Amino acid sequence: MLSSENLSKSVKSLALAVGFDLAGICEARATPESRRLRDWISRGYAGSMDYLERSADVREDPSLIFEGARSLIAVGLVYDPGRDGGCEESAGAGRGEIARYAGGDDYHDVIGDRLGALASGIEALVEAPLRRRVYVDTGPVQERVFASHAGLGWIGKNTLLIHPELGSYLFLGVLISDLALEPDVGSEDHCGTCRLCLDACPTGALLDGRVMDATRCISYTTIEDPGPIPLGLRKAQGDWVFGCDICQEVCPWNARRRRVGPSDPLGLRARLAPRSEWQGPSLAWLLSLDEAAWRSSTRGTALRRSKRRGLLRNAAIAAGNSGDRALAPLLEKLMAEGDPSLAEHAGWALAQLSS
Ligand code: SF4
Ligand code: SF4
Repeated sequence: MLSSENLSKSVKSLALAVGFDLAGICEARATPESRRLRDWISRGYAGSMDYLERSADVREDPSLIFEGARSLIAVGLVYDPGRDGGCEESAGAGRGEIARYAGGDDYHDVIGDRLGALASGIEALVEAPLRRRVYVDTGPVQERVFASHAGLGWIGKNTLLIHPELGSYLFLGVLISDLALEPDVGSEDHCGTCRLCLDACPTGALLDGRVMDATRCISYTTIEDPGPIPLGLRKAQGDWVFGCDICQEVCPWNARRRRVGPSDPLGLRARLAPRSEWQGPSLAWLLSLDEAAWRSSTRGTALRRSKRRGLLRNAAIAAGNSGDRALAPLLEKLMAEGDPSLAEHAGWALAQLSS
C-alpha cells in the first residue's frame, strides 16, 4: 500500500498523464478566503447569480459536499498557449470580440472528461472505488480559491488564478474525494505594486482588495445576466460580444508566460482553440444569426450559455459602439423581430450610429 506522500505524488503524475498542465492538492475544508463569499454576496456584487447564495455553505466549506470528503485535487489546463500576451487591439472594424476560452469545444466537456479519466486512474492505483465528485465551474466549489491553496498559483488583483510560468489563461477543475493526501504549499502573491488590470478594466469592475463587482464585469453582463445591459456600461463594452479578456491581456504574467504548445499529445488544446467562425466574428454575421444558424454555429461550445437572445443583444451593443452605419439595416431588422429586449438594445445602437 502506498504511503500518503507517495500516493499524492502518483496522483499528481497521473493528472499530468491524463492531459493537465498543473495539479496540486489541498484539504477539502474552508479557508479564510473561501469564507469571504457571503460578505461579497451581501455587498450585492453577485448580481442576479442567486444560486451562489443558495449554495454558500458548501462553497465556503467543501467538506460539506459529501460526508467523508477529505482532500481536493486541483488541476489546470492552459487554453490559450499560442498568442502573445500584452494588451491587444480590438478585433478590427466591424468585428466582435469573444473571450479566448469560449470559441472552441466546451471546456466543461473537455475538462470533465479528463477529470473522469483521472478519477478512474486513481481508483486503479488504490484498487478501490473512491467516494468522489468532480467539478468544472458549474459545481458549488470556488475553484480559484482552492487551486491557489493547492499551489497552482496566486489570485491576482484581477481575481483570477495566475501561475508564475503559465499565466492565467487556465481552465480549472477539482476532484474532491475521501482519499487522505498530502496537501501542497499554497502559492505566493506576485502582483506586488502592479495595478495594470484595475486601471485597464473599462467598467471599473475591479476593486481594491482583490474584489470584483461582478455586476459591472462584461463577462457577467454579456453572459451570466439575461437582463438588459446597464445603460452606464454599454459604451464601455466596446466590441466585446461574449465575455472580456482585458484584465488578462494587460497582465505582465501573461506576457512573460512560458509557451506550452505545441505539446498537446491528447489534442485537448486543439479542441479548446476557437473555431474559425468565432475568431473576431463580423458583427453583420452575428446580427444575422437566426435561431437555426445560432444553434448550428454554437453547437458544442460554451457560447451556448448566453442563448441567441443574449448574443444578439451583445452584438447590438457592439454594433452601436462600432460607428459602422452599414449595420443599421440589420439593427432595424432586429428591432422588428418582436422581442422587446432585442428591440431596445437595437434601438440604443441605432441611436449611437446616428448621433
Ligand atoms: Fe473588467 Fe473585463 Fe476583467 Fe471584467 S473581464 S473585470 S470587465 S477587464
Ligand atoms: Fe496582478 Fe498586475 Fe496581473 Fe493585475 S495586471 S493581476 S495587478 S500582476
